[in-house]
Amino acid sequence: MALAKVVTFERSTPPEAPHEIVVQADPDDERVWVPQADRVWFRPLMLNTLQGSWTNLLKVKKAGVFARHRHPAPVHGYVIKGSWRYLEHDWVARPGNYVFEPPGETHTLTVDADCEEMITFFVIQGPLIYIDEKGAIIQYEDVFTKIEMCRQHYVKCGLGKSFVDQFVR
Ligand code: FE
Repeated sequence: MALAKVVTFERSTPPEAPHEIVVQADPDDERVWVPQADRVWFRPLMLNTLQGSWTNLLKVKKAGVFARHRHPAPVHGYVIKGSWRYLEHDWVARPGNYVFEPPGETHTLTVDADCEEMITFFVIQGPLIYIDEKGAIIQYEDVFTKIEMCRQHYVKCGLGKSFVDQFVR
């Protein structure tokens, strides 16, 4: 990343403020992508332990239907590559589309066969609750389970246990 000249002003960032994050979102090193399921990965960008939210890129390289889940809190998405949809809705999310998923939204992510790869930027607040066809809760994810997944993967792939720390606030 190019280095720019730093200018300090009066009343600039207080020392107590958390550090900013600036990273190449779609990384050069493929190991940064954390496996989530078969041919599904996420790339952590900001893991917010104070607000129970996280920001990541989601990458899917396989057609099919993925786990059905509910969001008790809002989610914002921006499609970068490919296309996807939810079985419960009639729209298709395409590159450049912004998607707002309101609290209560319960849906089943689907990538159609004509899409080789989809990448979407998501801001997820609160947990993600996985449910089966009958509506029974089977699993959940939150910022802490995401951090743990990242840690385990980064140890395994050689980036190291503390690699995830740069994304945690
Ligand atoms: Fe969702």
